[in-house]
Amino acid sequence: MKHRSFKDKVMKFARTWHLIALAALGVFAVGTGAFDLNFAVRSWYVLILGAFIVVAGLLDIIHRLKGSLPAHFSAQIQGPLLWTVMAWMLLRMSGPYYKYAIIIPAGFITWIITTYPPKIFIFPVLFAFIIEASLTISGRQPVVELAVNMLLYGLAAIFLALFVRSDAYRKKLLNSIKKAKKKSDAQEYAKDLGIISSGPFILEALPEFETIENKEQLDAFTIKTITDSFDLQLDLIRRSLNLTTVAVLWPDSQGRELRLRNISTIRKDIQPGPYAIGSGITGVLLSDRKEITLASVKAGFSGLPYYNKKEEVGSLVAIKIIDDLQRESSRVDKKKSGILCVDRTEKSDWNESELTILRLLSKKLSLDINMGKHLYAINREKNAFQRVCVGLRELNSVMGLQSVFDATIKAVKTLVQADFIAISLLQGEHHSIVRAEGLYAENLTGMEFSKNEGIVGQVMKINHRLPAGAEYRGSAPIFSKEQRFPNFGSLIVLPLQKEEGDSIGALTVAARKPGVFTGHRRDILELIAAQVAIKIDLAQVHEQINKIAKIDELTNLANHRTFQHAFDVMLNRAQRRSGRLCLIMCDIDYFKRINDTYGHPFGDQVLKAIADALAGTVRTVDLAARYGGEEFAIILEDSDEYGGMEMAERIRSKIEALSLHKNNDTINITISLGLAAFPNDGEKKSLLIDHADQALYKAKAGGRNCIKAWSEIAIFT
Ligand code: GH3
Ligand code: MG
Ligand code: MG
Repeated sequence: MKHRSFKDKVMKFARTWHLIALAALGVFAVGTGAFDLNFAVRSWYVLILGAFIVVAGLLDIIHRLKGSLPAHFSAQIQGPLLWTVMAWMLLRMSGPYYKYAIIIPAGFITWIITTYPPKIFIFPVLFAFIIEASLTISGRQPVVELAVNMLLYGLAAIFLALFVRSDAYRKKLLNSIKKAKKKSDAQEYAKDLGIISSGPFILEALPEFETIENKEQLDAFTIKTITDSFDLQLDLIRRSLNLTTVAVLWPDSQGRELRLRNISTIRKDIQPGPYAIGSGITGVLLSDRKEITLASVKAGFSGLPYYNKKEEVGSLVAIKIIDDLQRESSRVDKKKSGILCVDRTEKSDWNESELTILRLLSKKLSLDINMGKHLYAINREKNAFQRVCVGLRELNSVMGLQSVFDATIKAVKTLVQADFIAISLLQGEHHSIVRAEGLYAENLTGMEFSKNEGIVGQVMKINHRLPAGAEYRGSAPIFSKEQRFPNFGSLIVLPLQKEEGDSIGALTVAARKPGVFTGHRRDILELIAAQVAIKIDLAQVHEQINKIAKIDELTNLANHRTFQHAFDVMLNRAQRRSGRLCLIMCDIDYFKRINDTYGHPFGDQVLKAIADALAGTVRTVDLAARYGGEEFAIILEDSDEYGGMEMAERIRSKIEALSLHKNNDTINITISLGLAAFPNDGEKKSLLIDHADQALYKAKAGGRNCIKAWSEIAIFT
């Protein structure tokens, strides 16, 4: 343990100081002439050192632009140190142009002095001086040149500093910084104040919330309300108590740095920050103290991090802004609380009424934040319900079973960030996947599992969602032992349950990320599952009714009504495409006799056997129907009379070959068939049926177990 903490310390030290060490090494190298053009021993390791310095310096610039640099001191100074070395490397590499290149370090020094506070710029300036001095000591530049250079750097810096610190310039700069900050910071400020992630609002369950309704606008609105209110109050207090500055400092959401969030001031040397946590006077408030008052501040005091110059501060007060939640729990998170800082030039005690006003202000600011949280919460809840409603409305507007599955998947997708969604239905002793989408979903649809198998089986059995906590570690069998999905971190299986009845199936939703299905998300999913169960039940009933209406129950062939409808549709298509169509009517021979001899139930069996033979013979594009009683009709798509005769013969011989058994008897059955073809034998449905019927009559008359076409017999009629 000890060893580890020592190692940690070393690592931390290395992380914090290695770039400064690198810069120091660079100073030594430049100072001893390693980067001089005419230096004889310059070799590859000098070049590597140079490359390291350049890369580290550029990385530092990138971090600064992104604002991702930590606020601690070493991180702030290492960049300027590296840049200093880079500037002097360039200078020394310029060789004979050295005299002109002096503009590089001069400009650099000027820039760094004008843009950084003294406690930072002092280090690069010191480094620059060490380099220059080393160059003189190692005999690379005469003492006079050193003196001239230092004078030049000094003059350039002073001249520019005077200009940059002029009131006119500062005011302009401050305004533009303020403007830029206001725009980009709203979202982050909301986070810092704890407004955005202040509670598990139902909307946080929704994926891509940003796209559905301008979340940014929502945040910006809340933040604007708060900042406007803050600004107004700070101004009011500053003016009424005759203060120099009233400022609100707030730590960022991770508690890494302190940011100046609102300020009302008459001073112009404001350093916009961010500042290290606990810097200056704010450090005192890191303890349990809630406020600090200083009556007579000594000259040169630099405890207020937002002042650039050590101008006179007479007295000051800093009060922690504690939000209601923290106040209630009496456990104040020091790194999450804001700080109200005020100061004035007057060096005197703060009287009780002034302090009361400031404490009330702090409380009011905290109330404002609370109000912002509520405002934000209300907006988000409203948005969430809108979204849930949209999802459910879609689910409600569909009818067929497949459309219900489609709508379910869609609704789940809009409501949670899922990587896998599956719908299982209970069918007798099995549960099977009727729809699966997402990761691992391939080949799952249609798979059957025995009733209580997997988490899904258990959910259907106990009518309750699983697993508890909606966590998944990749090992429990989801549908069966074969379906353990190691990439999922979150899983929820919800019963599809009609009201309080038994489950008819289950809805499985999974996500790679752990912790996706938090309390609110589960509630939304449960809401959907309940709707889905009702819809599936309805759709199943609906489909059953539809099926019954279309299919003959005894033979499972299309019924008479379906035959009529299908004939219309097929004829219509044939007419439009000048195609062909063939109708075959068949009737069982001497069927009455079979009924009389073996009984009606056996007659039904015969009907079934013949229907199966018909269904097995025709192509999928054709239609075989029970026309009525023991008569059947077959419509052959795109067939003429010859094709029709061929098919009719195939049917006739197939049925002739059937042998059925009853009471040790073997019964053979035959049928007679009549055929009419479109368009030659008639163009209208009724005529075609009539002609096929007449042909069938001829087949009966001609001895049965045979086929007659209308075209053959038409000659005689
Ligand atoms: P044919 O060769 O002239 O057609 O002689 P057939 O005995 O088959 O005469 P017909 O076609 O007139 O006979 C129809 C018989 O079919 C009458 C009826 O008992 C029987 N039948 C009709 N529908 C059913 C049914 O659903 N089940 C059973 N078992 N018999 C039926
Ligand atoms: Mg008949
Ligand atoms: Mg018959």
